[in-house]
Amino acid sequence: MSAFDYVRAGSIEEAVALLGDPQWVSQPLAGGTDVMVQARHGPVHFQRLVDVSRIPEMKVIARHGDEIYIGAAVTYTEIMESRLLQETATCLVEAARLVGGPAIANAGTLGGNVGNAAACADGTPPLVCLDAVAHVRNLAGQHAVPVAELITGPHQTALQRGDLITHFTFPVAPAGARSVFLKLGRRNAQAISRLSVAAAGALGGNGRITFARLAPGSALSRLRRFTEVETMLIGEEPHQALFEAAGAQASHVMELATGRRWSTEYKEIALHGLVARALRAIFLNPEN
Ligand SMILES: Cc1cc2nc3c(=O)[nH]c(=O)nc-3n(C[C@H](O)[C@H](O)[C@H](O)COP(=O)(O)OP(=O)(O)OC[C@H]3O[C@@H](n4cnc5c(N)ncnc54)[C@H](O)[C@@H]3O)c2cc1C
Repeated sequence: MSAFDYVRAGSIEEAVALLGDPQWVSQPLAGGTDVMVQARHGPVHFQRLVDVSRIPEMKVIARHGDEIYIGAAVTYTEIMESRLLQETATCLVEAARLVGGPAIANAGTLGGNVGNAAACADGTPPLVCLDAVAHVRNLAGQHAVPVAELITGPHQTALQRGDLITHFTFPVAPAGARSVFLKLGRRNAQAISRLSVAAAGALGGNGRITFARLAPGSALSRLRRFTEVETMLIGEEPHQALFEAAGAQASHVMELATGRRWSTEYKEIALHGLVARALRAIFLNPEN
C-alpha cells in the first residue's frame, strides 16, 4: 500500500482550505470503499486524504420547497432509511438497497459514487434520472453542475484538484410520479450483467403519460437521460406494447451511440427487457 497522509475536516470551509492547500496534493476521502481499495492495489496520485465523511452539513437529507437536498457524505444506509427519499426518490432508495453488503452500504457515500464515476455505479443513474445537480466548492467559490455533465466517462469527472462536492439537489417530481431502479444480477460477472435502468413517470388525469424519465447505467460511455425514449412515451396511454417499443428504442439509441460490438446482441436484449420492466413497474404495477 502506498504511503500518504490523512486529515479529518470538521467543516466544509476547513475541507476546502485543506483540499486547496498548494503544499499538498490532496484528495477527498468519504467512506473510503473505492479510495482505499485503489490505494491497496496500486500507486496513488495524492499525498494526503482529506476525510469529509463527518462534516455535518454534508450529512443532511432535506426538502427545501420544491427541491430535495442530499449531502454528498450521506451513506447508502442513510438513503435507504430516509422517509423523505422513500417518498420522493424511490429509484435512489432502490439503488442504495442493491449496493454491496451492509458494510459497504454503511460506509459508501453518494458523493464518493459520483467522485469515483464507475460505469457500473448504482447511485449515478438515479441521480441523472432525477435531473440532479452537484454543488461543488473550492477556494475560488462554488458552482453547480448537472451530474450528467460532471461525469464525463468511466472513472472520469470534470472535478478539478481542490474541488469538493458538498451536496446534490434535484426537483421534486410531479404529484403521483413514481420511480424505480432495476439492474441485472451481480452474480453474473459478465459486463452485460452490469446494465441498470433508473426510470420515473407519472400519469395525467386522462390516464396518459405526462412525465417520463429514463437513465440507463452502463449502456453508453457517458451517462445520460434517453430523451429519445422519454419523448415517445409522453401523451401515450400506458400499455405493454408501448413499453416493448420503448425498450426497443432504448436498445436502438444505445447501438447508435456505441456501434455494434461482440456484446451488443446481448446488451440489446437485456436493455430492451430492463426498460420494458421498469416502465411496467411504474405505470402498471405500482406495488411491484
Ligand atoms: C466490496 C465492494 C462492493 C461494492 N459494491 C458496489 C455496488 O454494488 N454498487 C456501487 O455503485 N458501488 C459499489 N462499490 C463501490 C463503492 O462502494 C461506491 O462507489 C461508493 O459509493 C464510494 O463511496 P465512498 O464514500 O466510499 O467513496 P471514497 O472511496 O471515499 O471516494 C471515492 C472517490 O470519490 C472522491 N470523493 C469522495 N467524496 C467526494 C466529495 N464529496 N467530493 C468530491 N470527490 C469526492 C474521492 O476522492 C475518490 O476519488 C463497492 C465497493 C466495494 C469495495
